[in-house]
Amino acid sequence: MSGDVALVRCPEARIYDHGPGHPLRPDRVLLTWDLIEAVGLEGRPTVSRIGCEPASDEVLGLVHTPDFIAATKAAGGGQEGNWSRFGYGPGDNPIFDRMHEAGSLVAGASVAAAAAVRSGDALHAFNAAGGLHHAMPARASGFCVYDDPAVAIAWLLREGVERVAYVDIDVHHGDGVQAIFWDDPRVLTISIHQYVPGWFFPGTGDASERGGAGAEGSAINVPLPPETGDEAWLEAFHAVIPPAVERFRPDVLVTQLGCDTHESDPLANLRLTTRAYLACARELHELAHGAADGRWIATGGGGYQWARVVPRAWTLYFAAMVDALDELPDDLPEGFIEEAERRSHGSVPTTFSEPDVGPGPADDRARAVAEEVRYLAALDR
Ligand SMILES: [Zn+2]
Ligand SMILES: [Zn+2]
Repeated sequence: MSGDVALVRCPEARIYDHGPGHPLRPDRVLLTWDLIEAVGLEGRPTVSRIGCEPASDEVLGLVHTPDFIAATKAAGGGQEGNWSRFGYGPGDNPIFDRMHEAGSLVAGASVAAAAAVRSGDALHAFNAAGGLHHAMPARASGFCVYDDPAVAIAWLLREGVERVAYVDIDVHHGDGVQAIFWDDPRVLTISIHQYVPGWFFPGTGDASERGGAGAEGSAINVPLPPETGDEAWLEAFHAVIPPAVERFRPDVLVTQLGCDTHESDPLANLRLTTRAYLACARELHELAHGAADGRWIATGGGGYQWARVVPRAWTLYFAAMVDALDELPDDLPEGFIEEAERRSHGSVPTTFSEPDVGPGPADDRARAVAEEVRYLAALDR
């Protein structure tokens, strides 16, 4: 049950680089492309590689304010100004050279994925460089300049698509996308994330956030406690996300596949392994076919174990898109391991599979959260 799959490879997007020491390294995406190619997925006859153009100001303007776009151009062009009011400055969103060009390429890559699915050239499309889900209409946030998933969704709506479901499995709340479509009943946003108000970024994503006036129920949040492990996370995912998406009956499914949920991730505290990613990839693929006639646009997202986890996680999702999970060898190709170790100056895992981390003390609380969300979203009725 698959169809043609587009892989957006946009090497120029590597200029989206906040500089040395920043966790959102371009290597995350470059090594993912390497692994997808090394395991033979890119060479399959159903897979086509597509490039991208920068999103125009007009397309970015479907989501972002003209002032913010102008400020991003000016700040990334070296001009002085009060950029902190647009979210730029030391910390998460340092100003970097050609920031507008970089952000518009990432957004353009997600629009290219959307266009491939919209036209029917592909049934599924993947932009590993995308998933910058924290950016707000007038403000950069959480490493994100332009909100490429929101831009792609807004572009689809402008092209006449009537209903879009957005599923965000990054460890952080998909706050930008939720805020942008808060009042829009055409877009269902669902985010499953770690939640600790007052401490864990971005601080939003409580189960009580359910959409604005006229769009009640169009936002769903599954706020999980730190230390949630594979089984409990999958149970929460399964309890909420497929039934909510199926009920919504979207024309297109858009997913943000952040893998900073991994137990080794330095920026978060969940306890997931590639076991969860494998099961989730299978479930999302089935959901795309079952609820959206297969139309599925996927982006990358967070994930800061850039050599050890990110390439394996996103290759698993891409294998699901290609319907090749069962044929994927467990051992990583030697050439990939050497390249990843050369770039990271460390050792990397040699298999896709990982040992079970077992149950943890937060798992029952995570299950209770999922039940509460099911109740709030009236999924039991
Ligand atoms: Zn398929
Ligand atoms: Zn994240």
